[in-house]
Amino acid sequence: MIRTNKIIAIDGYSSCGKSTLAKALATKLRYLYVDSGAMYRAVTLHLIRVARPIEDEEGIAEELENINLDFEVKSGENRIFLNGEDVSEEIRQMYVSDLVSEVSAIKAVRVAMVAQQQKLGKRLDIVMDGRDIGTTVFPDADLKIFMTADPKIRAERRYLELKNKGENITLEEVFENLAHRDYIDTTREESPLIRADDAIILDNTNLNEEEQLQFVLDRL
Ligand code: C5P
Repeated sequence: MIRTNKIIAIDGYSSCGKSTLAKALATKLRYLYVDSGAMYRAVTLHLIRVARPIEDEEGIAEELENINLDFEVKSGENRIFLNGEDVSEEIRQMYVSDLVSEVSAIKAVRVAMVAQQQKLGKRLDIVMDGRDIGTTVFPDADLKIFMTADPKIRAERRYLELKNKGENITLEEVFENLAHRDYIDTTREESPLIRADDAIILDNTNLNEEEQLQFVLDRL
C-alpha cells in the first residue's frame, strides 16, 4: 500500500539534541513527535522494577507481554505511560540511562518496539527520533537526518540539563554514560546505530536551536 502520510526520521548519537530538533520540527509542521528512546527507557525501567536480569533474554521476552506503553501530549509536552503510570520523569534518571543500551540490544525488545513504532507511522504525519529510525523502522522515510556533535559539548549540554533537574551527578559520569551508550548502540548486532545511506548529516556542535531547525526545513 502506498503511504500518504509524511515521516521524518532523526537518528544519531546520545545527547545530540535529537529530541529538541524533533520537537521543534513537529511543532512547526504540526506533525506528531515520537521519542522512540523513551520507549526503550520505559521498558528498562519496568525490567529494573521487576528485577529481571539483563542476561535472562527469554524471561525478558516473556516480560514484554506485561508491558503496556501509552503516549499523551499534555500542555504541549510528550508524556509516556508505563502500564498506566506517567514515567516521563523517572525514565530520565541515571539508573535507567545506565542500563538502557543493554536492554535495547536485546532482539525481542527491539522487535516489540519497532512493531509499535511502525504502527504509529501507518497513518500519522510524524517526526520520530532514535537510533534505527531511518534504517529499520522507516527505511522509506520522506526525510532522514543523522545527527552528530562533539562528544564534550554533548556531555556538557546533558550535564547542565540533569543538574537543572536537581540530579546529583558529575560531568565525568555523564561523559562516561554517553560514551558507553554510543559504544553499545553502534556495535550491537540488532539494528546498530548507523547512518542510512540517504540520511543527511547534521553536526550541531556550533549550531543553535533555530539554526538546526532551519537546516532541516531547508531540506524538506
Ligand atoms: O534517545 P535516548 O538517548 O533517550 O535513548 C536511550 C537509549 O535507547 C539509547 O542509548 C539506545 O540504547 C536506545 N535506543 C535504541 N533505539 C532507538 C532509540 C533509543 O536502541 N530507536
